[in-house]
Amino acid sequence: MIEVLLDEEDRMIRDATRRWVDAELIPLEQQILRAEVEDNWYEGEEGGRSALSPEQRQTIQAQVAEMGYDKLDLAVEDGGAGVTEMQHTLISEELSRTIVPLNLGGEAPNTRMLEELATPEQQERYLEPLKRGEKRSCFMLTEPNAGGDARGIEMRAVRDGDNYVLNGTKIFITGADRSDFAIVMTVTNPEDKPRGGFSAFLVDLKETEGVEIVRPINTVVGGRLFEVAFQDAVVPAANLLGDEGDAFKPMQRRLGVRRLQIASRAIGWAQRAMEMGGAWAKERVTFGQPLSNRQAIQWMLAEAHTSLYASRTMVYDAVRKSMAGQDIRHEISVIKPFVTEMSQKVIDDSMQIHGAAGMTSDLILERMWRGARLSRIYEGPTEVHRLTNARLLLEAL
Ligand SMILES: Cc1cc2nc3c(=O)[nH]c(=O)nc-3n(C[C@H](O)[C@H](O)[C@H](O)COP(=O)(O)OP(=O)(O)OC[C@H]3O[C@@H](n4cnc5c(N)ncnc54)[C@H](O)[C@@H]3O)c2cc1C
Repeated sequence: MIEVLLDEEDRMIRDATRRWVDAELIPLEQQILRAEVEDNWYEGEEGGRSALSPEQRQTIQAQVAEMGYDKLDLAVEDGGAGVTEMQHTLISEELSRTIVPLNLGGEAPNTRMLEELATPEQQERYLEPLKRGEKRSCFMLTEPNAGGDARGIEMRAVRDGDNYVLNGTKIFITGADRSDFAIVMTVTNPEDKPRGGFSAFLVDLKETEGVEIVRPINTVVGGRLFEVAFQDAVVPAANLLGDEGDAFKPMQRRLGVRRLQIASRAIGWAQRAMEMGGAWAKERVTFGQPLSNRQAIQWMLAEAHTSLYASRTMVYDAVRKSMAGQDIRHEISVIKPFVTEMSQKVIDDSMQIHGAAGMTSDLILERMWRGARLSRIYEGPTEVHRLTNARLLLEAL
């Protein structure tokens, strides 16, 4: 229905991804779900465990590489797939129709921030290895006293000769345990807060003394976040990313990239949930008729279809604007809460249609539901995005 926002190549890439997901990945889902119940695991990477055998993982990764999905974030000159932002969005949407884990490499948001701000030396030490997949990175903004209200962060970075000394605590950090370096948001000029005074630093996590992972924190999806303490951590002034006191705007652009990715993932989950709900509604007979004959169920599916149509229209429109170099801050403040809330509602309705089975780990729905639940918090909770939406709206009115 929204084909007009996509060109022929966009549609071809989307459809090819969808066919691959249907043919190769979805058939593996039962094995993944059973592994949890039967406690049946293979050895995974980096000492972890995996529901898929090494051969299965190898086959998938070979296909991922063949399609260039492991280099989605890279430009052609860096050996990347050379897909447009729209194609990236569509691929991410289609890949999210399944729970099969894929190692896609790349860290678009940090890559974008580094491309925009890194000095030639920083590019060589951090950006290039990141692009080649030789280094991994994470992003540290949130603190115990400030998350949604990002301008409330307190971590101090104080200049000392050729260095800065960092003190404070970061919390709920994704990937801190496996990252080589972090982009760390700090306060260098407290007197300029809240409008300015924020500076970003590139911190080598393995080599910098005074940086310590305090504890892992489990989430409702099982994935782990980390609390990280900085105590008199000395970071060379050469690792200041961008201008001192001016890191907030580029950080917002970084978050913008990520928030659109979150939205396309949420659309993928909801699409699959709707497909599953529709298929089950046609099959399951209660009181002498298939569920699909009941208006209560039809309305759930009609609502899901409507919400997905609205969500895709919004996201594709914002992506087109972003590709044209337009500022999409307002669009993002509309999209992030709308699409993540939509996704959880559609998945929840599909769980309802499936009855008891929908409440179990026999189906992928509960996993997607938990994923959607998290997505309503990270990268800014719904309420904070609505606040931004209203502020920008009132400024414009
Ligand atoms: C899975 C996951 C991964 C994460 N990864 C990272 C990471 O890699 N790096 C990083 O820096 N952070 C990360 N975070 C942290 C995340 O970005 C913050 O948790 C989020 O921004 C919310 O901050 P908070 O938890 O401090 O909530 P708060 O800001 O304390 O808000 C609490 C609640 O209050 C409400 N609220 C807040 N402000 C308002 C308002 N003005 N009006 C009305 N209601 C309001 C909202 O409902 C909100 O959920 C991650 C979080 C999760 C869950």
